Parts: sequence; structure tokens; C-alpha cells
Amino acid sequence: MKPIHKFNNGNGATLCHNCYIIISDGLTNDLICPDCLAKLLDLKGYVGELVKMLESVEISDSEREFHPTTIQSCRCMQVARLQEIMPKISEIVKGGETKEYTQEEIDEIVNKTHYP
Ligand SMILES: [Zn+2]
Repeated sequence: MKPIHKFNNGNGATLCHNCYIIISDGLTNDLICPDCLAKLLDLKGYVGELVKMLESVEISDSEREFHPTTIQSCRCMQVARLQEIMPKISEIVKGGETKEYTQEEIDEIVNKTHYP
């Protein structure tokens, strides 16, 4: 991701990628303003809670494991996309680096976490 540079009456300015306010006078490598960074960290926390709910497993009275919280869709293309993005979202909110998954790894995560 590259910084957003604008010519601010010839002085140059660097804009936030999220809200487009001027982060700094001059052309710097800054990408995001402090307010948006704080909001992104809040968002990471909220998404982390959501992932935790989706990954939680309980045992039924008949000793069967189940996921009390799931995402469902009757649109197969959206289900396919969820299967692609949920492992990446999970990895990001857990603080790891994103990586390209093999289909086997995706299937393993999907089976383990029951998305959707
Ligand atoms: Zn911003």
C-alpha cells in the first residue's frame, strides 16, 4: 500500500487512506491517521470476538460437538467466498501474518471451525 500524496498548494501533503484528512504536511510514508488507527484496532478486537464466537464448540446432551454460532447463506458463491476469507480474517485478528492457504488447509480450518 502506497501513501496518498497530494499537492497542497505546492507544499505537498500526505492523506489518510481511510478518511482522507491530511496526516502530515509534506510527502511522508504515513498511511493512516491516529484516529483511524485507533478505530482499526477497535475493529480488530470486535472481529476477534466474532471469530471466537464462530469457533466456539459446545457438547450437546447426546455428547455431540456443535457450533452454537454459525454464519449461513443460501447463496453458494457467498459461501465459497466466506470459506476463502474467514481463515484469513481469523489469522489476522489472532495477530499472525496472512498467507496463502492450500485447499487442504482451508478444508481443515473450515471443518474445524464450521464456516458456515
Ligand atoms: Zn483517518
